[in-house]
Amino acid sequence: MQRISLSNLENNFLEVEKPLTNQEAIEESNRCLYCYDAPCIKACPTGIDIPTFIKKIASGNFLGSAKTIMASNPVGASCARVCPTEELCEGACVLNHSTKPIMIGTLQRYATDWAIKNEQSLFQPGVSNGKTVAVIGGGPAGLSAARELARLGYDVTIFEAAEKAGGLNTFGIVSFRLPQEISFWEVEQVEKLNVKIRTNTVVGRDISADKITEDFDNVVLAVGMAHVPNLGVEGENLDGVYDAIEFVKATKNNGLLSQDFVGKRVVVIGAGNTAIDGATCSVRLGAENVKILYRRTEEEMTAYDFEYEFAKQDGVEFRWLTTPKRIIGDESGRVTGIECIKMKLGEPEKDGRRKPVAVEGSEYVIPVDAVVKAIGQTRHLELIEAFGLHHDGGVVKVDQASLQTSNPNIYACGDVVFGKGKGDAMVVTAAQQGKDAAYAIHKQYLAVGVVN
Ligand code: SF4
Repeated sequence: MQRISLSNLENNFLEVEKPLTNQEAIEESNRCLYCYDAPCIKACPTGIDIPTFIKKIASGNFLGSAKTIMASNPVGASCARVCPTEELCEGACVLNHSTKPIMIGTLQRYATDWAIKNEQSLFQPGVSNGKTVAVIGGGPAGLSAARELARLGYDVTIFEAAEKAGGLNTFGIVSFRLPQEISFWEVEQVEKLNVKIRTNTVVGRDISADKITEDFDNVVLAVGMAHVPNLGVEGENLDGVYDAIEFVKATKNNGLLSQDFVGKRVVVIGAGNTAIDGATCSVRLGAENVKILYRRTEEEMTAYDFEYEFAKQDGVEFRWLTTPKRIIGDESGRVTGIECIKMKLGEPEKDGRRKPVAVEGSEYVIPVDAVVKAIGQTRHLELIEAFGLHHDGGVVKVDQASLQTSNPNIYACGDVVFGKGKGDAMVVTAAQQGKDAAYAIHKQYLAVGVVN
């Protein structure tokens, strides 16, 4: 925790990873073997032609490199920073067997940073084919679908509930890993293809699902997830209890929250990537002690390994097999403690993970000043039902190949089709699904000769 400065908290939210210098980027690119049938390409969910973009960096063609990346992945600048590359492209690099893998993510960042800095517009809209598509949600999946549809000549409108588009990349991933301007640039690239983005527009409140299905030929539902659910324990409405999504969003706006965290004790409940974000943000806000409570063990936690390591480096403590029983407050309604109970693992549940069971009589109290809830997110049930789609507890049912829902004119992608108990969907997977939904719509019209 030594690198956390208390004198200027906003600086604690500046990007942690340093970019490569020109010299380093050229040298790293020249280490690539430009493999035939490259395994790194197969390991990328969006199929970026990695050897080609690396070769373009080596030859000084930075624009070409950025185009290669972004052609396959419309949120490729964000993914350069947030992808678990050691599990994907870098994990598959042949150089793992001899020296060390190529720093693919960092090189991807180098090329896309160049395009951002040089204000490049990478793509053109396609010739209009007269068809209209509404995309509900302007996060990674929605932007990706919109970008590909616009390139194919569709007239696309994104309906976005927040004040800005970009979804998770704009509001949900901590600034010190992904600064907002990177996400804004990706949104801008999509807008430059004449995609209309209606922000502050909640479908079901500002415009009905029926009106959208009437006004547009097709719909792509890419609404992601909703808010963090209640813990269902006493005291969760006390001052100082936060929803992790709102908490991270507040730090993205100006790096700070109204409550002073300096010297405070924070407990984060949950052990996914959002929980890690809540914990590491608390450290950067000056908290003296940050603990993550998780009802299962290290083995079942869903956070990426690199996120877990990052939290440990920040001095975050982990209390495994521990769950909150109630949140305790003082007379003024502020949090002062959390009563926990020890757990043990019982029989496996439907998702294969063993069910945590409370150990009777093991209750104890941890004194705290703030509690951050990060136990997953609820789903947009009402909206899904307003469109009349078949779903399983808020997971929209789709044909796996085409992402078509029970309504043949509506496609769905991203978190809204991502099953429960599998942790968070990757941004890069959502981006690929967005592309797949766009291509499936196009294929449907090509098949009947309506578009060329
Ligand atoms: Fe280059 Fe590694 Fe991909 Fe081969 S596997 S093309 S060495 S990045």
